[in-house]
Formats: sequence, structure tokens, C-alpha cells
Amino acid sequence: MAASDPVIVCANLQKSFGDLAVLQGIDCQIQRGEVVSIIGSSGCGKSTLLRCFNRLESISGGQLIVNNIDLSKPKLSRRDLLALRANVGMVFQQFNLFPHLSVLENLCLAPVKVLDQSKAESRETARFFLDKVGLSAKADTFPDQLSGGQKQRVAIARALCMKPEVMLFDEPTSALDPELVGEVLQVMQQLAKEGMTMIVVTHEMQFAREVASRVVFLNKGKVEEEGNPREVLTHPKSERLQAFLSRMSSMLAA
Ligand code: ADP
Ligand code: MG
Repeated sequence: MAASDPVIVCANLQKSFGDLAVLQGIDCQIQRGEVVSIIGSSGCGKSTLLRCFNRLESISGGQLIVNNIDLSKPKLSRRDLLALRANVGMVFQQFNLFPHLSVLENLCLAPVKVLDQSKAESRETARFFLDKVGLSAKADTFPDQLSGGQKQRVAIARALCMKPEVMLFDEPTSALDPELVGEVLQVMQQLAKEGMTMIVVTHEMQFAREVASRVVFLNKGKVEEEGNPREVLTHPKSERLQAFLSRMSSMLAA
């Protein structure tokens, strides 16, 4: 795979649930090192798109290639699926940590199972990434003893332990108390600075403006508008994006 190949290519990507056509022809490419923020109204298909990228959902039509693996095929080989799981990290709104495992054990699980790392190696990697998210002291703590912000930083460290090529974030701060949002965004900003390829579904417009290299606005199952964050968020062309942004800012002002 050439370093210049896009990490994700989708062309006319479609996804339906029964009669409900959620994604109706998404065209986009994500290049290495990009930080792309996906915005759009609730229910417009943002999570579904991310879930297609890591094959939590299979697609209904069109083309999708992720890290050179063709996800347009109805069935993937086990090898491709494992490669995909290793190379595409995902961080969810609800953290999804295993409550019965310590922080360190949460981080070591997938590297041992999927990457076949030794316990010692996985622990070393886990400690490295825990330190990176500022939680070295919490290695032996269980998830329910952590604040929401700490849980999400653990979830980010867990994804990083797989050394992914791209990280997907699905509203990573939406479940957090407002005062805990900053610590998570800060970790994400640091990752972006270090060159991680990131796709971030978020309602944090300030993060989108300051950290993203590109903003993609989804509407009715399609990319309605995209471009440089400052341009797109300050001078939106589409009326629907104008309406969306004014709803967002009135929510913030309320
Ligand atoms: P968003 O993340 O933008 O809020 P989603 O991608 O979660 O939107 O959902 C898009 C639409 O697809 C919604 O109407 C939702 O109800 C529907 N949907 C999502 N997942 C499923 C599923 N597994 N089965 C049926 N409908 C679904
Ligand atoms: Mg969603």
C-alpha cells in the first residue's frame, strides 16, 4: 500500500435498513493525516457511516475501500476482518469499556487477542498510551471508579494500543458533563497534532473549527457541503447547513 493512498475511499456508498435508505450515495475520500469532522442533524446517518467504515455495518451499495480493504464485498475473509479491526480504531459516545476488567486489562485485551502480542508487550504498550492520555495512575482502577472524562480517555488509549491507521470518534464528548469535555478534546487535539488520521462526528463546533482540516456536512444521506472548517462554518453555502448551524448556535446560547 502506498503511503499516498487515501485511507478511506467511498463512492456512491449506500446503506439501507429495510425500507429506510439512510446513506444515499456518499462520495468522499480521507487522506492520511487528515482530521475530518462530520456534522449533521440527529438521525442523518453519521453513526451509520462510521459503522460502515469499520464494518460494524455492511454496505448496501456503491464502493467502500478502507485501508486498501474492499468492503464492498458482502463477505470478508477473516484475515481482512482482523486487519480492519486492527487498523481502524473506534471511540464511542458511551465508552464501551469492560466493567469487569481493570483499565490496564481493558487496554491489553485486543492486542493480545487480535495482534497476538505477548502479555508483557501489551502491558508495555498499554502503559505508554495510558501515560499519553494522562492516566498512568489509573492502570489498576476499574472503569466504574473513573469519571466520564477519564473513561473516555481510557477508551482512546485502548484504541491507540492497536496502533491503528485511522481513528473514528462517534460523538466522543456527548455523554460527558460539560466540565469534562475539555480534557477529552485536549487528548484528541494532541493526537491530531501528532498526525493521526481522524474522523470525528461531533457537535463541538469549536473543535471542528480549530482542529479539523476539513468539515463534512451530511444531509439526507448525502454529503451536502464540505471544505475548510473556517470557510464552511463561517460562510456556509447550503441553506440546510445555514439552518443547522444557526440551530446549533441557538442551542449553545440557551
Ligand atoms: P446519526 O448518528 O446521524 O444521529 P444514525 O446513523 O444513528 O444517525 O441513524 C440514521 C438513521 O438510521 C436513523 O433513522 C436510525 O433510526 C436508523 N438506524 C440506525 N441504525 C439502525 C439499525 N440497526 N436498524 C434500523 N434502523 C437504524
Ligand atoms: Mg449518531
